[in-house]
Amino acid sequence: MATATSPVIKPDHATRQRHFIFTDEHEDLRESMRSWVQKELHPHRMEWEETTWPSEIMRRAGELGYLGLCFPEEYGGQGGDYYYSLVRADCMSYAGSGGTSMGFAVQTDMVLPPIHLLGSEELKQRYLPPGIAGERIGFLGITEPGAGSDVAAIRTTAIRDGDEYVINGSKTFITNGARADFIVLVAKTDPEAEHAGVTLFVVDLRDSEGNAVPGFTVSRKLEKMGMHASDTAELTFEGVRVPAANMLGEEGKGFYHISWELQGERLVAAAGAVSGAERIFERTLDYAKERHAFGRPIGRFQAIRHKFAEMATKIEAGKQMVYATAWRFENGEYPVREITATKLFTSRLACEVADECIQIHGGYGYMREYEVERGYRDMRLNRIGAGTDEIMLEVIGRSYGL
Ligand SMILES: Cc1cc2nc3c(=O)[nH]c(=O)nc-3n(C[C@H](O)[C@H](O)[C@H](O)COP(=O)(O)OP(=O)(O)OC[C@H]3O[C@@H](n4cnc5c(N)ncnc54)[C@H](O)[C@@H]3O)c2cc1C
Repeated sequence: MATATSPVIKPDHATRQRHFIFTDEHEDLRESMRSWVQKELHPHRMEWEETTWPSEIMRRAGELGYLGLCFPEEYGGQGGDYYYSLVRADCMSYAGSGGTSMGFAVQTDMVLPPIHLLGSEELKQRYLPPGIAGERIGFLGITEPGAGSDVAAIRTTAIRDGDEYVINGSKTFITNGARADFIVLVAKTDPEAEHAGVTLFVVDLRDSEGNAVPGFTVSRKLEKMGMHASDTAELTFEGVRVPAANMLGEEGKGFYHISWELQGERLVAAAGAVSGAERIFERTLDYAKERHAFGRPIGRFQAIRHKFAEMATKIEAGKQMVYATAWRFENGEYPVREITATKLFTSRLACEVADECIQIHGGYGYMREYEVERGYRDMRLNRIGAGTDEIMLEVIGRSYGL
């Protein structure tokens, strides 16, 4: 940068340039939350691969105010804008544990937002404060053994019986499913109808002692390729009763409601994918500067240097897509095409970066003790969860009237 004494303008690669959507307040939060994640989460990343993340850390995050950043103060939140969600996703990437980041994102960006947008005042009072405090953990139940991408084909039913609905069916691949206290459930109130039969509910699944409500069972804890720090479960509902007042939004409009929820979920997934890719890039850069072959650091080979240049370019493009799309979302637009494209692009780039970083690590990249190995397995979910690449392409393609 030019100064009063020198007109020579030199590039300053060391400056962390702030994007215009972020203010000093966002940056203050980034600093404090990142430091918490580095001190209290990152050291446990290997242990939690075996045990899954402990629920106490959600309470700790609640105490520190990290779960309610974008929710109104009257429910225990901080009343911040949507960009705080991006900052939180970025900070969580420093945990070095995709499973932990995902468990948190389910609570903050998938479960609480639909309750806030669609719930009655009574439901908001009942579910948001304990959720924001991290005292009660929730999960989102869309996917079923027979229906994932095709949401309108779900078969779990919620049939009215007086002032209640009775739920029967099953859900699978559910993040936080083995531990959670309540569910934002997607069910069919009219089993004969397709999209028009879908309705959302918030349903208590455990009492204050932690016992499952009658009819609810965690039928199976699922073993996965990656995201080991996260619990994933198959769940059964046999005559589970929920008050009619626990409906979120309107009966039969659940498909639109859940499509709205998915936009926030996809945008935060994109933010997490870019940050995750950036963390692996940084670790690999350090490695490439230290590891020697043929008498020089491997990063000094043009072949390796260009890999970093390619990755850095794509990461920057992904970041800009996330920020620009988030700006539109925050400013009242509903940019479904752009959110979808951002989710698609960043999911692919995260997988590509993880793959290249393994390559740069050589044999060490294949070893469990190296963060890139876990990152590679964790990142692969991005192209499947919150909607697959193929579904993203369908949404984008159809948005052009094709
Ligand atoms: C670790 C993990 C955590 C998850 N957490 C949750 C959760 O918390 N809550 C939840 O509800 N769900 C969750 N999911 C489910 C996830 O959202 C689904 O797996 C995903 O939406 C895909 O659905 P599916 O697995 O049934 O695949 P399918 O829908 O059966 O798709 C199989 C293949 O067919 C392709 N395909 C399907 N339809 C089309 C089409 N129209 N055009 C072209 N190709 C198509 C897909 O892209 C995919 O390649 C999770 C999944 C995993 C693996």
